Amino acid sequence: MFSKILIANRGEIALRIVRACREMGIKSVCVYSEADRGGPWLEIADEAYCIGPPPSAKSYLDISRIMAAAEIADVDAIHPGYGFLSENAHFAEVCQSSGIAFIGPSPEAIRLLGNKASARALATKVGVPLLPGTKDLVENENDAIGIANEIGYPVIVKAAAGGGGRGMRVAHNEIALVNGFLQAKSEAAIAFKDDGVYVEKYLERPRHVEIQLIADQHGSIVYCGERDCSLQRRHQKLVEEAPSPIMTPELRRKMGETASMLAKAAGYTTAGTAEFLVDKKGNFYFMEVNTRIQVEHPVSELVTRTDLIRAQIMAAAGEKLPFTQADVEVRGHAIEVRINAEDVDNNFRPCPGKITDLFIPGGPGVRWDSHIKVGYTIPPNYDSMIGKLLVFADTRERAIARMRRALSEFKIEGVKTTIPLHMKIMHDANFNKGDVDTGYIENVLLAKG
Ligand code: ADP
Repeated sequence: MFSKILIANRGEIALRIVRACREMGIKSVCVYSEADRGGPWLEIADEAYCIGPPPSAKSYLDISRIMAAAEIADVDAIHPGYGFLSENAHFAEVCQSSGIAFIGPSPEAIRLLGNKASARALATKVGVPLLPGTKDLVENENDAIGIANEIGYPVIVKAAAGGGGRGMRVAHNEIALVNGFLQAKSEAAIAFKDDGVYVEKYLERPRHVEIQLIADQHGSIVYCGERDCSLQRRHQKLVEEAPSPIMTPELRRKMGETASMLAKAAGYTTAGTAEFLVDKKGNFYFMEVNTRIQVEHPVSELVTRTDLIRAQIMAAAGEKLPFTQADVEVRGHAIEVRINAEDVDNNFRPCPGKITDLFIPGGPGVRWDSHIKVGYTIPPNYDSMIGKLLVFADTRERAIARMRRALSEFKIEGVKTTIPLHMKIMHDANFNKGDVDTGYIENVLLAKG
C-alpha cells in the first residue's frame, strides 16, 4: 500500500481524499494556489505546498509544478480528484514515468474512454446501445447537415474532449446546426484545446442515469448501482439520487453489465462512471465514461455501504477490491444536493465572498462533504460548488423529508447559495413523484418562477 499521497486538487474533494488517506494510515499532501492559501482543508492534510498563482493554468493544471511538489514531498502516488488534470492522459503518463502511481486508470484507458468520440467507437464495437450519430469526428458543417438529414432533427453537436456541459449545442434545424457546429467547435478549441466534434441524435427530455464502476488490476470489475442525475441546469447536475426512481433490478443488471463490459474492453481499472440516457420506454443509450471519481460518488457510497475513494486507492496500489459484485446490494435511498455559491435569481451568477455565519445540518442520516467554515473566503477563481449535502433514509419519501429538514436548518451567510432552489425542488410535486427529466429544472421549475 502507498505510504504518502499527493492530492492534485482543492476544496471538498481534496478534503474527501485526505479523510480516506487518514483512515487508511496514509500520509496526505495537498498542493494549493495562492488563492487557496489558508484553505481549511490544508490544515487537516499532513503537508501542504504552494505551487503557484491563482489561475489554474499556473497551479492546479501545471504538471511540472505538481511533479516538483511530489518530488519534494517524496510521495508514492498522486490522486487527481475530479476536474483539473483528472482525465489528462499525459499527466497519468508523466506520473508513470516518474515512478509515481496515478490514482486512476492507465493513460491508454483514459485516451480510449476519456475522449467521447473514441469511447463511442469502442462502445459500437462491443455492442453497447448508442444513440444514432457519427462514428468519427465531423469535419465541416456540410457533413454535419448530411448526418442530421440521415438521423433526423433534433441533433446535438458535442465536443469529443468536452466535459462540464461545455462544447455542446442542440439543433432543431439546419440553420441552428450550422451555428451550433461552429460554436461548439470554437468553444471546444478554447476550453479543451481540441476542436474535434461529433453529432448524435438529441433525445427530448430523457433521464440521466449513470453506473458507478470500480475495477482492480486482477480482472475484477464491480458496478455499485446507479445514480439518477436528471436534475440539471445547462447540462450540469444539481441534484443526484440513488436508486433511480425508474430503476428495476432487471434494468440495473442490464445497465451494470453493459457498463462493466465496456470497461473490460478498455482495460479499465480504478473508479469510473458510465453515463447513459434513458428514454420513457426504459431504453438506455451510452453517452460517455468519466474516467475519474465523480462529484456525486457519495450517493453510491451511502446506498451500497462502500468507501469508493478507499477502493479506488486500493485498486491503484494493485490490491484486490475490498468487495465483490455479490457483496454490493443497493439498500435505502440517498439524495445529494450541490450547494453552489451562486445567485439563483440572477442567472446563477457565481457569488464568491466571505462566509460570515454558518450552521451545518446534522442528525440522523445526514452527511456534509465540504471544506468551508465561518470566516472562509470563497475565491473567485474556481468552481462555485462549496459543498455537497447528502441524506440517507430507508425510502425515497423519507429521504426527501430528511433533505427538507436538513435544508431548513442550513444557514450560510455572506454569500448567496443554491439552498432556496433545492428547497423548492424538494417540495416540487413532480420531483416527489419521481417524474422529472434533464429539461425539468429549466423548462418547468425555473420557468414557473
Ligand atoms: P459533459 O461531459 O459535458 O457532462 P455529457 O455528454 O455527460 O457532457 O452530457 C451532459 C448532459 O447533456 C446529459 O446529462 C444530458 O442532459 C445532455 N445530453 C448529452 N447528450 C444528449 C443527447 N444525445 N440527447 C439529449 N440530451 C443529451
